[in-house]
Amino acid sequence: MDSHPRKDLPALEETLDFVRLAAGDYLEGLSESPVRTPEAETAAKSLGGPLPEDGDGALVAVTELAGAGRAGAIRSAGPRFFHFVVGGATPAGLGGDWLTSVLDQNVGLWAGSPFGAELETIALDWLKDLFELPSEWGGVLVTGATMANFVGLACARRWWALEHGVDVDDEGAHALRPVPVFSSGYIHASATKSLGMLGIGRKKTRIVSRDARGRLDLAALESGLASLGGAPAILIANAGEVNAGDFDPVPQMIDLASKHNAWVHVDGAFGLFSRLAPEARRLTDGIEGAHSVISDGHKWLNVPHDCGFAFVRDASLLPGVFGTSAAYYVGGGEAQPNFALLGPESSRRARALAVWSTLRAYGRNGYRAMVEGHLALARRLAAQVAEANDLELLADVTLNIVCFRYRPPGTAEAELDDLNRRLGQAVLEDGRIYFGTTSFEGKVAFRPAIVNFRTTEADIDLLINVVRELGAEAVATA
Ligand SMILES: *Cc1c(COP(=O)(O)O)cnc(C)c1O
Repeated sequence: MDSHPRKDLPALEETLDFVRLAAGDYLEGLSESPVRTPEAETAAKSLGGPLPEDGDGALVAVTELAGAGRAGAIRSAGPRFFHFVVGGATPAGLGGDWLTSVLDQNVGLWAGSPFGAELETIALDWLKDLFELPSEWGGVLVTGATMANFVGLACARRWWALEHGVDVDDEGAHALRPVPVFSSGYIHASATKSLGMLGIGRKKTRIVSRDARGRLDLAALESGLASLGGAPAILIANAGEVNAGDFDPVPQMIDLASKHNAWVHVDGAFGLFSRLAPEARRLTDGIEGAHSVISDGHKWLNVPHDCGFAFVRDASLLPGVFGTSAAYYVGGGEAQPNFALLGPESSRRARALAVWSTLRAYGRNGYRAMVEGHLALARRLAAQVAEANDLELLADVTLNIVCFRYRPPGTAEAELDDLNRRLGQAVLEDGRIYFGTTSFEGKVAFRPAIVNFRTTEADIDLLINVVRELGAEAVATA
């Protein structure tokens, strides 16, 4: 049977109607459903089997897909997913994202989508305004903070090489001497990965930390920079690390960098949103003195995956790194930007639609209220941990991550890691709430992160209750 997609066009409307109803159903259940369903690891298997020789059309396909997705999807878009740092999707962000697929723009070259390119410029301007970054900085939307780190560090590498008289993007990494990169123990795995992708090396960063937590040793950083005698260097400043939401001393690092000819790259994948809360503003004072600053869209902005943004003070570095030419590439320039030549991807999804939509819908004050609300929820969680005689708060709460462990009275220190590891696993299997474990100063610890616009006090209170309930069970079965 011939199942050419064109023959399916009459089913398009019915297919979209079906998806719309399935979406309503799923999203309505998001607040009540456990984060992890019993079929989380098996639902996709029902979609396997041999490649169909003849298809059954769109309606059958999306019906099967919606059913399996509903059965198996981790409710990471819901209010009780505290694992990693994963935002939900605001109504406007989700609507914008649906339209992204409907309009299906390719925002690579201006001629391919003037609408998408113009909207990306607007969205980037709004984001700079939201974070109070200088409006003349360059920027680009990417898939997430990993690629945003890559973009910022690629610009840093270009600058560093130019300081040595080398165009590394033309000549290649072999033309480079070892690049001095400094950071604290807070450096994110994705920045390390980016340094590997850039040929600088994953193992070459000089980690200057003063304790087991990885906190920056500012004096060691200063003497490390001074030892270069004015030769250029790259600093990675971590505005929000994943264990406890702590910050490097960003203002002091920027000060040091300006004295010692260093580029400052700020990884603010979620922490950049601290700039919206007056109480947390001081953490990134002076950030306009940095050279590249990045953040994520699918975390605290609460737009659907995937979305991140990179901002670069010297906008001319972006085409220096990512520019290329082909006979059929036309246009370009500030008025008609070719984003394919300003970032790593060539064909590009119009991520600006979801960004624009959510900022249009909720504005600066909506986001400020959400971020401040999350900080209050983190303090509530920390206070409940501090009060409970079987829980131990391991770090002060800087922002939206609370680092703690289960510690029932009378349990020997030597048993706590094993107990908390088992409890962490039990939490994931239970599925009512969801968070991950980490190693904090060598101790197995929990690190729930609060970034979802749906999360309420009741969700936080449930988190505490579930941990204590499952903790008591873990002790009983030891
Ligand atoms: C999440 C995160 C990243 C990586 O972001 P992706 O969106 O997963 O690519 C980088 N840095 C920090 C601090 C993060 O929290």
